[in-house]
Amino acid sequence: MAVSRPTFAASPRLCSLRSSLHRRSGTSELLMNSREAFCFLKKKKNDAKILEEGPFHKVHKGIHQELPNSDPADPIFQKDYLEYGEILPFPESQSVEFKRFSTKHIQEYVKKIIPEYVPAFANTDGGYLFIGVDDKSKKVLGCAKKNVNPDSLRSEIVKTIHKLPCVHFCQAQGQITFTLKIVDVLAKGELYGYACMIRVEPFCCAVFSEAPNSWIVEDKYVCSLTTKKWVGMMTDTDPDLLQLSEDFECQLSLSSGPPLSRPVYSKKGLQHKKELQQLLFSVPPGHLRYTPESLWRDLTSEHEGLQELINKQMQPFSQGIVILSRSWAVDLNLQEKPGVICDALLIARNSTPILYTVLREQDAEGQDYCTRTAFTLKQNLVNVGGYTGKVCVRAKVLCLSPESSAEALEAAVSPMDYPASYRLGATWIAVASPFSQTSIQEKSSPE
Ligand SMILES: [Zn+2]
Repeated sequence: MAVSRPTFAASPRLCSLRSSLHRRSGTSELLMNSREAFCFLKKKKNDAKILEEGPFHKVHKGIHQELPNSDPADPIFQKDYLEYGEILPFPESQSVEFKRFSTKHIQEYVKKIIPEYVPAFANTDGGYLFIGVDDKSKKVLGCAKKNVNPDSLRSEIVKTIHKLPCVHFCQAQGQITFTLKIVDVLAKGELYGYACMIRVEPFCCAVFSEAPNSWIVEDKYVCSLTTKKWVGMMTDTDPDLLQLSEDFECQLSLSSGPPLSRPVYSKKGLQHKKELQQLLFSVPPGHLRYTPESLWRDLTSEHEGLQELINKQMQPFSQGIVILSRSWAVDLNLQEKPGVICDALLIARNSTPILYTVLREQDAEGQDYCTRTAFTLKQNLVNVGGYTGKVCVRAKVLCLSPESSAEALEAAVSPMDYPASYRLGATWIAVASPFSQTSIQEKSSPE
């Protein structure tokens, strides 16, 4: 039987300043860039899935691996003391790193190198970190006993390793496995000082040096992503639709979507997005269409002056569509606002989309309501509709007070304080939102 794997996005869906994921590369350790981190996590996730579903899972019980004892460094690691000046009989390698103790601030130094080297070994194939050995000459130098307290050094190292964030794709959920030895360094049979040896086992999933440097905007606030959330967003997969694939087909996959967008499926045989757009939102050249027509009729007969008010707003636009609702906010699962007659979304040629809120009377909170609705609309275009272009929905409040009849009391258009890099240059493209795209585009003459 063919087993379909969930499809990963083809490239990282997140930008990060720093992945905080280290790996071994030859005799050094490397900080993975976004793409490397993405491939690394993707592989770990797939490995965990294969192991859990595959025929071996009962035998293996997780992905626990061990460093082979045949490593040339192992006999030295087994020793209880080292000789000062002794030359170790093996060089640095993918699984061996030599570090000298710094002469001052030994604990600070150890706290700095552990989060780089220990995860690097754990994320690769495991290995040995020797602190107190010169990397060129392979000579044991240790750290003079007057400069270090072996007990506090041990507890500092253990604490630092336990602080490293671990993220699992597998069922194991264990901590990083390591063996720490602080051994005596002897000179002519006398205690000279201490050396530190850490054996790190390969880790089933991912060990970080700290949380990745990546942020997200949540409810207007910039928040730092937690390690777990970051990994989740980096490795998000299209759901496995094995069972449903006979009835459903994918219209939008995650591979092209921004970080928060979800895949879109439709029932086979039903009309596709393109056909629906054509059917629901087509506009003949030179026309401005109001839809749904019945709602437009009802609204204009219920509210005297509404037709004039809206028509006046539409004067600058030659072709487009006005999508009306008694409340766009309610359509978007936001709170209804009393006093709102209707919301109208204009998608027109040579303009960014504009959301008009028509209020019965002037209201200080009207602009806030309209801006929030426009913002949510934009969010939905991206996260639900999978729209990947740059788009701005402007918010505009109109007021239909009975005294002033058709006179519009127009609130200030919300400021477009976008960063400079976010240029809405190709307005026409921006207007081609998921639901307007083909209809307006195809019916219009080429620019
Ligand atoms: Zn794991």
